[in-house]
Amino acid sequence: MTTYDYFDYLLVGAGPAAAAAAVAIRSKDMVGRILMLGAETETPYQRPPLSKGLWLGKDKEANLPLMSNADWTALKVDIVLGDPVTNLDPQQRTLSTSAGKTYHYHKSLLAMGGRPRQLTVPVTIQDRVFTLRTLADYRRLRTQAAEGGKVVVIGGGFLGAELAVALSQQQGLDVHYAVSGDGPLAQILPPVLLEKVSARYRAAGVQLETQKTLQEIRAEGGRLVVRFEDGHALNCDWVVYGIGMEPNRALADVADLKMALGGIAVDAQMRSSDPHIWAAGDLATYPDPVWGTPVRLEHWDNAEATGHAAGLAMAGETTSFAHQSLFYSDIYEFGFEAVGICRSSMECRTALSPDGAQAVIYYLQDRRVRGVLLWNVWKKADAARALIAARTEVRQASWKGPLQNW
Ligand SMILES: Cc1cc2nc3c(=O)[nH]c(=O)nc-3n(C[C@H](O)[C@H](O)[C@H](O)COP(=O)(O)OP(=O)(O)OC[C@H]3O[C@@H](n4cnc5c(N)ncnc54)[C@H](O)[C@@H]3O)c2cc1C
Repeated sequence: MTTYDYFDYLLVGAGPAAAAAAVAIRSKDMVGRILMLGAETETPYQRPPLSKGLWLGKDKEANLPLMSNADWTALKVDIVLGDPVTNLDPQQRTLSTSAGKTYHYHKSLLAMGGRPRQLTVPVTIQDRVFTLRTLADYRRLRTQAAEGGKVVVIGGGFLGAELAVALSQQQGLDVHYAVSGDGPLAQILPPVLLEKVSARYRAAGVQLETQKTLQEIRAEGGRLVVRFEDGHALNCDWVVYGIGMEPNRALADVADLKMALGGIAVDAQMRSSDPHIWAAGDLATYPDPVWGTPVRLEHWDNAEATGHAAGLAMAGETTSFAHQSLFYSDIYEFGFEAVGICRSSMECRTALSPDGAQAVIYYLQDRRVRGVLLWNVWKKADAARALIAARTEVRQASWKGPLQNW
């Protein structure tokens, strides 16, 4: 019989979910062997600054790692980087990597996150068409941005919106920003905020183009031509797009794990349909702690919280996941935090402060609060969570102070 390196806990994916799981396991089990396997060459690091603070001088690459190598060593967590896991055999409980290593596990965590959704329209040139997920992507983008020129940013979600902000504050760049909806973050923001945000991009010199559905990107005479379905076309030097992410589900498919909403279906302890495999982060679909319905979130706080819960469960704790994750973004001087499900297509109630600078938006399901977005309102996330947990009914929202307005 072949013997492989054996680990009590094998964590796949060296992102925030795996990192939080490792720390949580160690808080309960001081002796079990932990190995974290990562496809990237970095130990777990903060991703949010890649589209924000690193561009604006608020963050530095050196400060991105979640923990130093020395701290990981002190925690007795082994880490192997730059070697993606390519196979999972749930019967043998083994994981194999692209470099040909095979590891045997007692318990495994799948926390491989996702990769940028690719464009499906014809693109006749690749080398000046960028997207962003990793530090390596950021470095490539930064090198390109330093050359200046005219850039087209595509995508009305968080990534596109934040990149357009970041690029519009770099020297020598002429930024055109194309979104398929009514404006940046239109899937979340109610019309009153959408107007404010759109005006802010324009004030920063961004050529914002709405209702633009991409048709193709072609190389023509040394430049790129971005063509939209309505016939509009933009000539530019390079393009960056952010049109969502695809969960990295290949290993889950190989292991025939139960899936839901594109992620690995797990229970309230983050355990998958295989009793030796857990999942966390962007890749995990778990029961919403308030509503019980399946939910898969692609946010930092969710990755850390589900990773932490998975780690505790792997080390033997049986409490159910009860955290309502928070997400956040910064658009120029505007900032927001949000909890729960926030979609502008839901029934919304907006409470705007008299000066228009702050707002609380309640997203309703059957008239009950399902999500709350706090626009330039801080330290109210727990109050928002309480409203959601109580399934509070909101008929009308008026501004008498954040979260006390009905
Ligand atoms: C540019 C950017 C900005 C963001 N900003 C915000 C923000 O402001 N607020 C917010 O809430 N969220 C933000 N997010 C989202 C947040 O970063 C993610 O939700 C979070 O990183 C998910 O963590 P994860 O551990 O599930 O996956 P990831 O962070 O994707 O980590 C998974 C790791 O697994 C590795 N991996 C993949 N496949 C394999 C394999 N086969 N073998 C080994 N390793 C593998 C990957 O390379 C990766 O390193 C941002 C994301 C990006 C890309």
